[in-house]
Amino acid sequence: MFNLVIFGPPGAGKGTQSAKIIDKYKLAHISTGDMFRMHISQNTALGQKVKQILADGLLVPDSITIDMLEEEVQNNPDATGFIFDGFPRTVAQAEALDKFLEGKNEKIDLVLQLDVTEAEIKNRIAERKKVSGRADDDEDKLIKRIDEYFTKTIHVLPFYQGQGKVVKINGIGEVESIFGMICAAIDEAKK
Ligand code: ADP
Repeated sequence: MFNLVIFGPPGAGKGTQSAKIIDKYKLAHISTGDMFRMHISQNTALGQKVKQILADGLLVPDSITIDMLEEEVQNNPDATGFIFDGFPRTVAQAEALDKFLEGKNEKIDLVLQLDVTEAEIKNRIAERKKVSGRADDDEDKLIKRIDEYFTKTIHVLPFYQGQGKVVKINGIGEVESIFGMICAAIDEAKK
């Protein structure tokens, strides 16, 4: 198996690049944000529980997120690897993921850090809002999400740096040239 975490602030391009990675490397995509949005649109019990949290731009509690993620991995027994997009977002989630994968004799092989400035993120999300219809793309909610990123999620980086797994990719530029750098990092990690 080859397991990859794609990491970066809201609007860094994780979703865009994930789609291209899946296509080329045939990994199973797990986006916790997409999963939460699906639960909300289907009005499931979980969706009802997290709806307001997402709308406010806050992080869903770890226990809910971790359970949902582990279940999704178990639902994909034939996957040759996973790309985790938007997870882990806290150190507790990263620790839980390591433990969970260890129990399956698996591990995270690579963490791709998409590096984008705060000014660029704000521009991109303002543009995205025009088409996404995402309530959490409103400016005040976006400020919350960025705040969650810089207070909680950023600490996931040193966790994986300590394991020597992080490759930093400049997330500003053409989608294709960013993807080229990502492919080089994946090919190197697969050697
Ligand atoms: P973005 O990367 O643009 O912020 P996502 O689609 O990854 O968007 O996430 C949207 C929202 O879903 C987050 O703001 C948060 O409320 C919730 N969420 C997604 N993943 C997690 C996670 N791993 N832990 C806690 N909350 C999460």
